[in-house]
Amino acid sequence: MSWTYDPTNVFARILRGEIPNKTVMETPHTLVFHDINPQAPVHVLVIPKGAYVSLDHFSAEAPEEEIVDFHRTVAKVCAILGLSGEEGFRAIANAGMNGHQEVPHFHLHILGGRPLGRMLE
Ligand code: C5P
Repeated sequence: MSWTYDPTNVFARILRGEIPNKTVMETPHTLVFHDINPQAPVHVLVIPKGAYVSLDHFSAEAPEEEIVDFHRTVAKVCAILGLSGEEGFRAIANAGMNGHQEVPHFHLHILGGRPLGRMLE
């Protein structure tokens, strides 16, 4: 998929403060907020503040500092939301058409709080 970033996408607008969100935590490079249409008792989205279209774009082109900040934030938010124990959670990054990505700003879904079922056969 193309890594050309569309600055009018809804998460870019959230990052610019044009659309409200329910923030869970924020760091210099990363924002975590509750999904507007939760699919589980806990459903948050972790997004980099930088302009990256997808997981592969972020992983290839983001400076290491931003990548480390993103992953440390994932760990912190899992702990804050009580997902780090034995019950666990699921993390999903949809990309492109086959991944059914709707918002073209990289985001990691983190879901938990109930059994999520078997996903991969
Ligand atoms: O991975 P995908 O792009 O399909 O998911 C986009 C997610 O963004 C959806 O789960 C949707 O509910 C969420 N969303 C949101 N706040 C918005 C717009 C979309 O949490 N303002």
